[in-house]
Order: sequence, then structure tokens, then C-alpha cells
Amino acid sequence: MQDALLALNAGSSSIKFALYRIDASGNPSLAGAGQVDAIGTAPHLRVADAVGRPVAERRWPEGGRLGHEALLDALLSEIERQLGANRLIAAGHRVVHGGDEFVAPVLVNEELLRRLDALVPLAPLHQPHNLAAIRAVAAVRPNLPQAACFDTAFHHGMPALARQVALPRAVAGEGVRRYGFHGLSYEYIAGELARVAPELGRVVVAHLGNGASLCALKAGRSVETTMSFTALDGLVMGTRCGVLDPGIVLYLLNRGMSAGEVEDLLYHRSGLLGVSGISGDMRTLLASPEQAAREAIELFVYRCAQQAAALAAALGGIDGFVFTAGIGENAAPVRAMICERLAWLGLALDPVANERGAMRISTRDSRIAALVVPTDEQLMIARHTLAALGR
Ligand code: ADP
Repeated sequence: MQDALLALNAGSSSIKFALYRIDASGNPSLAGAGQVDAIGTAPHLRVADAVGRPVAERRWPEGGRLGHEALLDALLSEIERQLGANRLIAAGHRVVHGGDEFVAPVLVNEELLRRLDALVPLAPLHQPHNLAAIRAVAAVRPNLPQAACFDTAFHHGMPALARQVALPRAVAGEGVRRYGFHGLSYEYIAGELARVAPELGRVVVAHLGNGASLCALKAGRSVETTMSFTALDGLVMGTRCGVLDPGIVLYLLNRGMSAGEVEDLLYHRSGLLGVSGISGDMRTLLASPEQAAREAIELFVYRCAQQAAALAAALGGIDGFVFTAGIGENAAPVRAMICERLAWLGLALDPVANERGAMRISTRDSRIAALVVPTDEQLMIARHTLAALGR
């Protein structure tokens, strides 16, 4: 009999999961993965084995009102069926915001959930769904230990200077400071870089997915990042605006928009979607012949290169640039455009390696190494959950 762990990443309309067996040396090894999609409309559960072959599927065509509890109950039942005699020992969750207080993975209890509720205004798009999934699992499997793994935690050690915002001290005292996100991804990448390119001391990592950010790593630790107080800051994203003159928010409010309308505009209707008017999905934009699609991609690339240079300044130089997540791992044309804008820093792209999706996409004599390293946030959740369990 073997122990198993479930890693969960719950969003507004989907729950992604990965199942790990704990091998003889105590490490998690992938046993299966999948997701529940279309929550709120017609939920669809898919489970695949470790190499991506489908093993189970369930649809609820009329299930628009099914909540996290019913769906996680179905998901857990399916996983328990797959596990047979093996035992699920814990579930670990990605929790976007840990605030100042939570800088390491922790086991969940009622008191913790109450404190994490207080951080919802700092991550309104993600935190409520992360916490709803934890509560749902607690309701349907009350004896299953659960761990919260925080996306902010990896940035906790950023220098005080990088964490500061230039507002009065009293406001900063309320916790208004730069936190940073995508920490599970950056921690995983830092671990991979220590293995595959330990010679790179000062690295900028670009996590380019629907949400997108950059992280400056010095000797494997985060010293600066582009998302800050919320996940709105920094790069142009699928539907989020990225860095913006705060005067624009004041203008919109004074023009008569409510705070809720501005929030919806900045989180859901901006970024690639807002600029192109076509889609927030990079693949769709790359395939589009429209000028507006091209302009959105160019703005995405321009801001990414510009902020990468800002992070290089924070690092005092740069030895490597790493692409990861959906766009970073798959969109060769976007990688090429970003590298072209970083050529002045000494980055020379090898176009053939880039098209092929090789791990190293810079030329041999490039002063800066450019790499593509696939991220694995679920594995990081599994490792953190084991740590929270004290194993
Ligand atoms: P999330 O932040 O939701 O986890 P992902 O990391 O999956 O997002 O990234 C999603 C983004 O990656 C989308 O913009 C999608 O279009 C883009 N993407 C995925 N595959 C490709 C591809 N082959 N070519 C270009 N873009 C891609």
C-alpha cells in the first residue's frame, strides 16, 4: 500500500488537480492529473493517468448550479476509486495570498481560514475560490488533512526596498506593500535552474500565462517581481491591465464608474483582450490577421522587455532569462520578439532552437543565456503539502 497526495488549484470556473504517490524515498511522483472545467455552466470532470491518457470522465450538462462541494466530492470519489487500496493522506491547495503572516505552507484549520478570508480584498479574483475549495473538501472529507500553499510566500524574502510603496507610512502599516505572486511557479523554476544551469547567478524568469509576471532571482531567491500588492500590477496579461498610472483609476471613478465597475474593467476586460478587442488568448491572437491583434501582442512584448530590463537593474546585471507557463513554453514567436528587444543587453537568440522549443534557445556566444523551462506548480504544492505534514 502506498500513500498518495492530491494537489488542487481552484479558480472561478475550473479546478485543476494532480495526484501524486509518495515513493519509497518520500518524494511525490505523478500518478494522474486532470480538471473540472465549466463550473457554473456545464461542469466536466476529466482524469488522466501520469502520461496524459484519459482514465475517467464525467459530465453534468445541467449542472450549472453545482458548487465546489458536489464537484470536489465527485472528484475525490473518482480519485479514491483510482487509488484502490492506496491511501489519500492529504490535499494541498494553491492559495494565492498569504499576506505578511503566512510565509510557509501550513495545515488548515478554522482559524487559518478566517485569517485568509481577511485577505480576499487583496486577491478578489482568486482567493475566494481557493478558500471555497478548502472548505468544500473539509465538508465532504472532514478527516482529510489539508495544507495551504501560498503564491506570495516565495517573495517574502525580497529586500525591504523592493517591498515598499511610496505612500505614507500609516498606509503601508496597514499591509499596503508589494507582495508578488506566482511564487509556486518561481520556486519550482529556481529548483530546476539549480539543477540544469547552476552557473546562472542573476536570472529574470518570465511566467507568461493568462496571468503573467516576471521574477528576478539572485542565487535562487526572489529579490524583485512585477506583480505587487495585487495580481493586477506589472505585465500586460490576458485580461488584466498590468502597470497603470493610478491617475487613470481616479479619472474613471470621477467619470462616474463605480469601484466594482473599475475592478471588472481592470481584471476582466483589459490586457490582451482589451487592447485587441478580439481575445485575451495569445494563441488566438497569434493566429489572427487583424492589426489590433498584432498591436496587442506588440504591447505585451514591449512591456515585458521593458520590465525585464527594470528587473535586471534590480539584480545589478543579468546572466539568464527564462521563459515559462503557457505562452513562455509554447509561443515561439512571442519569445523571439521579447529576445529581440533584449538584444542590447547581450541576448542573442538561436532562432532554430527557439522554433524547436529547445531548453536553451540562445546562441553559444550569447552573453545572456535564454532558456525555456516548463513550470510545475502542482508538484510544488505536493512538496509543500508534505512539508506541512512534517514529512
Ligand atoms: P494559466 O495562467 O491560466 O495557468 P497558462 O499557463 O495555461 O495559463 O497559459 C495560457 C496562455 O498560453 C494563453 O494565452 C494561451 O493562448 C497560451 N498558449 C498555450 N499554448 C500556446 C501555443 N501553442 N501557442 C501560443 N500560445 C499558447
